Amino acid sequence: SSADATVIATDDQDVRNVIIIGSGPAGYTAAVYAARASLQPVLFEGAVTAGGALMNTTEVENFPGFRDGIMGPDLMDEMRAQAERFGAELVTDDIESVSLDGEIKSVVDGEGRTWRARAIILAMGSAYRELGLPDEKRLSGHGVSWCATCDGFFFRDQDIAVVGGGDSAVEEATFLTKFARSVTIVHRRGELRASKIMVDRALSNDRIRFAWNSEVAEIHGGDKLSGVTLRDTTTGATSELAVTGLFIAIGHDPRNELIQGVVNLDAEGYVLVEGRSTRTNLPGVFACGDLVDHTYRQAITAAGSGCAAALDAERFIAAIE
Ligand code: FAD
Repeated sequence: SSADATVIATDDQDVRNVIIIGSGPAGYTAAVYAARASLQPVLFEGAVTAGGALMNTTEVENFPGFRDGIMGPDLMDEMRAQAERFGAELVTDDIESVSLDGEIKSVVDGEGRTWRARAIILAMGSAYRELGLPDEKRLSGHGVSWCATCDGFFFRDQDIAVVGGGDSAVEEATFLTKFARSVTIVHRRGELRASKIMVDRALSNDRIRFAWNSEVAEIHGGDKLSGVTLRDTTTGATSELAVTGLFIAIGHDPRNELIQGVVNLDAEGYVLVEGRSTRTNLPGVFACGDLVDHTYRQAITAAGSGCAAALDAERFIAAIE
């Protein structure tokens, strides 16, 4: 029964060293390091989204060690298997609530079981905002992308579009002109929200075009993206734009639901850490990956900070023992 499960998981014998929440590159890397340090970590992968953001993409060409690239889901399978090989316990469930004060921290999973540990590593990542259109997910990695740094290289000499009007949209569009033949910035308003210097650079770039007062109404394509339907936000009129790439740059939200009001967050909701460490304001609670980072947001940087979090947790546990 679930009552028995609660008793087992909360037994005093069963205070873990480290609980890791999140299963992207940050969480799995933390698990590899913590397991190899004999900390017997338990990692919660999430009930439906185990593997993190890279499960939604195809080729990953910039993760070192794979000279021919690797498919995102395959890379995550490898990381998962590597964590398991060293004895990390992987639980395919969400953590739904946490209590992180005090020496022994506890978390409750989706089945209502309580798990306790001396240290917690938060690695819940961040969610890229979606347009919410029917074929968006299906064509992700087949023309639809959320990451110019990751995927720009695939669009050499092609006509592509970037959705958004803020700094990251304009920066991505400018970056993408290194590869693409043309980049159309699709923006709902008649002017950009990005900073003036970035806007001036975009306006004077002859590979950048603008679809002002426009939103993407439909995404088209069989195996690959072939175009989008734009809708004028003032008149409602629609038009077709033939593009083989669509970069969605309308923001991302750190997955902080669990920890709002629990650990210190910055104004945008990312976890604040001390200096170059992964320490949060709560002793024994560490954070890593895209949950912390709004600057780099790459698999390798997430993995790197997951490593740092495990090392920080290891030192923390050694100091209290
Ligand atoms: P994530 O990968 O977001 O993983 C976090 C995980 O934690 C998720 O599975 C989530 O469901 C889980 N989780 C959240 N809350 C809970 C909870 N309460 N309980 C249990 N689990 C929870 N980067 C590159 O370097 N190269 C690329 O080619 C590349 N391509 C990309 C393509 C796409 C389409 C996207 C969206 C991103 C891409 N990125 C790429 C960026 C890269 O995926 C991220 O920077 C990286 O995955 C961040 O890792 P993370 O571990 O911090 O978080």
